[in-house]
Amino acid sequence: MARRKKIYEGKAKILYEGPEPGTYVQYFKDDATAFNAEKRAVIEGKGVLNNRLSEHFMTGLNQIGVPTHFIRRLNMREQLIRQVEIIPLEVIVRNVAAGSIAERLGLEEGSPLPRPIVEFSYKDDSLGDPMVSEEYIIAFGWASQQDLDDMVALALRVNDFLSGVMFGIGIRLVDFKIEIGRIYDGDYQRLIVADEISPDSCRLWDMKTGAKLDKDVFRRDLGDLADAYTEVASRLGLMPRNGSSSGPKLVN
Ligand code: 5GP
Repeated sequence: MARRKKIYEGKAKILYEGPEPGTYVQYFKDDATAFNAEKRAVIEGKGVLNNRLSEHFMTGLNQIGVPTHFIRRLNMREQLIRQVEIIPLEVIVRNVAAGSIAERLGLEEGSPLPRPIVEFSYKDDSLGDPMVSEEYIIAFGWASQQDLDDMVALALRVNDFLSGVMFGIGIRLVDFKIEIGRIYDGDYQRLIVADEISPDSCRLWDMKTGAKLDKDVFRRDLGDLADAYTEVASRLGLMPRNGSSSGPKLVN
């Protein structure tokens, strides 16, 4: 059988040519990186968990009319997605001060923000994904004003959906990052949610204990990352907890 064509390899995922035109296969690796890949590890099972979790969130978004690139999950580590033209921006939504906003503004981590705040970073690892203003985005032609309005609207809908899903399982959605891509329908373009939605790109805090259930566990050496992600997946009814004798193993 011919080897399939690799389109792109990132820190946590690989994109392969898909079975039909306009599709890709997205493979989730076990690699974890932080601080612009200065810190790295392989966390057994992380790719399986993120594939399943991203499927869950993207399917929910598709069902409520927020378009995403997700078509269907293929196996433990792969999903079929629509090919998009990625806008070179990270779209971040924050509900509670944490991470870079807390540092930048001297806010205590955990203090509520007056309203959800949407911000943008320019996707460039060599520059450390610098935060950029809407003015920069338009001046450099990364997106138009209409795109920006659409991106903010999409991001806030994702925030409402994800906040509700997390609230239902006793977790506070502190912040998250999404990426957005363009698809073309004839002469028209539409923006859809792309990449992944998983604890790699969200901050998730247990509502009762404040325990972190996201990639900060790895960034800040707070414990076992796979256990934290398994906790989220099991609360959503997607996976048994680690150590359970029943259910699928996370390693394939
Ligand atoms: P911060 O700007 O506070 O570091 O990150 C805000 C939110 O966006 C956090 O949930 C963080 O996980 C996510 N985020 C920001 N940049 C990246 C990135 O390059 N990769 C991933 N996976 N998530 C990011």
